[in-house]
Amino acid sequence: MKQAGFFQRSVLGRCMWTFRKEFFWVVVFSMFANLLMLTPTLYMLQVFDRVLVSGSETTLLALSAIAIFFFLVMGFAEWIRSRLLVRAGARLDEALNTQLFKATFEAALARGSRNPQQPFNDLTQVRQFLTGPGIFALVDTPWTPVYLGVLFLMHPWLGWTAMFFMLPMALLAVLANRLTAPRYKKAMTSSIETNAYLHSKLRNAETVEALGMLGNLRRQWLALYEKQMATLADVNETSRRIQALTKFVQYTQQSLILAVGAVLAIDGKIGVGAMVASNALMGNALRPFANLVGIWKGYVDAKQAYGRLEALLEAHPDRPAARDEPQVKGQVSLRGLVATAAGREAPILRGLDADFKAGEVVAIVGPSGAGKSTLARCLMGIWPEVQGQVLLDGISIADWSREALGPHLGYLPQDIELFDGSIAENISRFGKLDAEAVIDAATRTGIHDMILRFPKGYDTSMGEAGALLSAGQRQRIGLARAIYGDPMLIVLDEPNASLDDAGEAALIKTVRELRARGRTVFMIVHQRHLLSAADRVLLLDAGRITRLGPLAAAVANTPLKVQA
Ligand code: ATP
Repeated sequence: MKQAGFFQRSVLGRCMWTFRKEFFWVVVFSMFANLLMLTPTLYMLQVFDRVLVSGSETTLLALSAIAIFFFLVMGFAEWIRSRLLVRAGARLDEALNTQLFKATFEAALARGSRNPQQPFNDLTQVRQFLTGPGIFALVDTPWTPVYLGVLFLMHPWLGWTAMFFMLPMALLAVLANRLTAPRYKKAMTSSIETNAYLHSKLRNAETVEALGMLGNLRRQWLALYEKQMATLADVNETSRRIQALTKFVQYTQQSLILAVGAVLAIDGKIGVGAMVASNALMGNALRPFANLVGIWKGYVDAKQAYGRLEALLEAHPDRPAARDEPQVKGQVSLRGLVATAAGREAPILRGLDADFKAGEVVAIVGPSGAGKSTLARCLMGIWPEVQGQVLLDGISIADWSREALGPHLGYLPQDIELFDGSIAENISRFGKLDAEAVIDAATRTGIHDMILRFPKGYDTSMGEAGALLSAGQRQRIGLARAIYGDPMLIVLDEPNASLDDAGEAALIKTVRELRARGRTVFMIVHQRHLLSAADRVLLLDAGRITRLGPLAAAVANTPLKVQA
């Protein structure tokens, strides 16, 4: 089907297409509601032209009862169509939120998103438009010809007068779109920019305060904010002008149709009832146009939000069922691994090939900027732009299911990034709390006693712990999180960066113990004495492996750029 083809184009379109039944029924119930909207007109006609002339109260009673019944049906139809839309909205949300959460997360991982809240705001915009007055204005508009037809039936002059006013109303609706849409689009883009700016700078509030950067940032923010306000004021000004014009046309038509009706009634061409009823009918015929003038803002918002959601979901589609092996051995191979980054001409890693046995401890060394952290991220399968392969047990790491693989991996990044929540939750990666495993991980990293000294022990929240935890302690909690659940492959990026001597001794002990257990460990280090825990040393320089060998040979033959 042609229309289906349009919707099948994108993930979002396909999702929308699943709501076709709901929208079909909304149109059907709108048809009822609109047809029954003729009730007041017909009632008025009968009261003026029949009841008042005949003076029959019984007829009035019967007519009123019929009218009330129709009003009830009309109310029911309106209620059903609203309910259908609200339900469709909730289902739309349900159908997309998990996928959107994943896509937003992946965009953040690929550094493609500046404000992770935006996609969810966008989903709300789309849902609100599809379930609010906007959609009613769209489904009610096709009913205008019916009201027009009735006006023509009452008297052609009434029909022509309505047509005469419909033209400027339709023009105003188009004008409202033409003039406000691009301005509003600009205002929204500007607002997203301002929010993203605020979001990114507030994250570094401590540095901003310490370095007295607030004034400079405020000036930059103010420039963005003022631009946003100016574009918004421009939109409001334009739409107010159009709305004022719309009101003028609406009021004029209301009075003039009465005047035309009065002339026809004086000439005896229509009854007084038709004169009054034509006024109500004209209101019905023109209302969707007046609504269309008012809904452009919502429409533009929703259309833009739809476009952004479509792009996000296309860029990060739901991955097909990935490998979910119950057993991970921890054998790692690099095959022509190239890592690139947007805005950078030369690759960061330039074709790495190497094999690492399961249970091997590898120290990665090299000067600053050599690509060590990038290699660590590639080993974890989280670097977005990769060519070649990182194989875990012979399977490309990109093909593993992340959720299934996560428990088999341990990672301690350079920015430790502990999350809001308790120490126990952080160590257990916010999964089902396994107290034994948490204590085991803490004990093996030598921080069990330290944690017990906190007022609430393992239940101490990160907020409370903020004041209690030093950078070194955070790093050690990060290490406990990395080895929680006894993963098979562990990557530690400068695990000793913030550690004192006791912390380093505990770290070496932990790594030796991991080796004894047959875990594969990669650790980026800068200090020579930490190499003693490794089986092999990998020297990385300018994105290339310049040496990979046993510890003794590496220490003897390599001009290691590590501190003694
Ligand atoms: P250090 O020892 O200082 O941590 P490193 O060896 O770990 O350094 P990487 O952090 O891997 O080095 O960075 C290697 C190079 O890649 C650097 O030149 C860095 O500027 C660049 N780089 C890292 N991340 C990105 C990124 N997201 N976008 C562009 N370039 C990046």
